Amino acid sequence: MAKVMTINSGSSSLKFKLYEMPEEKVLCSGNCERIGLPDGIFTIKYGDKKDVTNPSFPNHGVAAKLVVQSFIEKGIIKDFNEIKAIGHRIVQGGKYFSASAMFDADTEAKIESLVPLAPLHNAAHLTCFRAFKEVLPNCPAIATFDTAFHQTMSPADYTFPIPYELTEKYDIRRYGAHGTSHKYLAQEGIKYLEGVKNPRIISCHIGSGASITAIENGKCVATSMGLTPLGGIMMGTRTGDMDPSVFNYVVSVTGKSAEEVYQMFNKKSGFLGVSGISNDSRDVLAAAEKGEPHAVLANQIFNRRIADFIGQYYVRLGGCDLIVFSAGIGENEPRTRRDVAHLLESALGVKIDEELNMSIRGKEALISTPDSKIKVAVIPTDEEVMIARDAYNMCIVGKYYEIESKNC
Ligand code: ADP
Repeated sequence: MAKVMTINSGSSSLKFKLYEMPEEKVLCSGNCERIGLPDGIFTIKYGDKKDVTNPSFPNHGVAAKLVVQSFIEKGIIKDFNEIKAIGHRIVQGGKYFSASAMFDADTEAKIESLVPLAPLHNAAHLTCFRAFKEVLPNCPAIATFDTAFHQTMSPADYTFPIPYELTEKYDIRRYGAHGTSHKYLAQEGIKYLEGVKNPRIISCHIGSGASITAIENGKCVATSMGLTPLGGIMMGTRTGDMDPSVFNYVVSVTGKSAEEVYQMFNKKSGFLGVSGISNDSRDVLAAAEKGEPHAVLANQIFNRRIADFIGQYYVRLGGCDLIVFSAGIGENEPRTRRDVAHLLESALGVKIDEELNMSIRGKEALISTPDSKIKVAVIPTDEEVMIARDAYNMCIVGKYYEIESKNC
């Protein structure tokens, strides 16, 4: 048994979970929010307790120290040395990483070189890695990349049709995102496909950020997000794919700078931009049910984009055995699942048990009817457990083997 911590850091937040491995028992979890602001929020859940306090975290270093100190104060561990490995979630691994990697100087340098592709995320991940290195200097760490699962795509699936010298010189291509989640969904989804040869899964990670992935035999063949998480289907505040000339046209008609329009496409578009109401699908659905026309339109675009990608990936995979819905909307919003299933019904023969579907929120279930041509499941995603498994296997089981082989 060993205690392994997972870290998911953003520019102003730091989410953590402490596991007992290999049992995958969660000992505690929590979040440091509003890092860098005077009034931080620290939440920690352990056993059946939940404590919320308002310390100030001037930086990630202070937050990291507070997290591990709180483990001792709350009796979750007795000594820092009980934490045997840390797994950090990293958003962008570029072309370098097709699997998790030990967080050594080389990995650090590569993540640093990828900061221009994910400025907010990768920079925050590095700050956080260095903060924990200072607090727990002897604890080994790994990096688990959101892009790694998508590295099995072929060039025809990941290359953008721009002048090829740009592709080569600047590594401009589709990297995708949410890879750890899609990998988890593929591994969990396989249980519904016993006896199916070369199982084909389309996984829909639909939260406030959203992506859809085509998976054959456990490997990603195509994914909707692109160079950055702006691509693919429409999202809470992001446009998803559009005619690229919209960008230039908006710059020219509004007089805004390219950067301002880029921020608009990332932060003021999607559900928020079309509905003018909210980036949260719950608010937009509520308004749509009252007949608010922009909310109705936002929902129509969203559902259609999901169905379009499923149709595209059905063709890409030469069929499909299972569609999985996951993440905030996919797990908790039966109306979106129902409306997408209706859009797929006449072409793909997808049928869901509508009554069962309406009762499924935040839990796993097979929601397709027995005569549906494609099975449809809701599977709550768990990116953290994937990171904890890799950290345990690479830092503890791997270390054990290394010691064993040295002893031989
Ligand atoms: P992200 O990780 O990209 O921030 P999440 O996967 O947490 O996003 O999804 C957040 C979105 O999921 C919210 O904006 C909301 O639209 C939707 N959502 C979350 N919880 C629920 C719920 N209980 N019922 C319906 N929709 C929900």
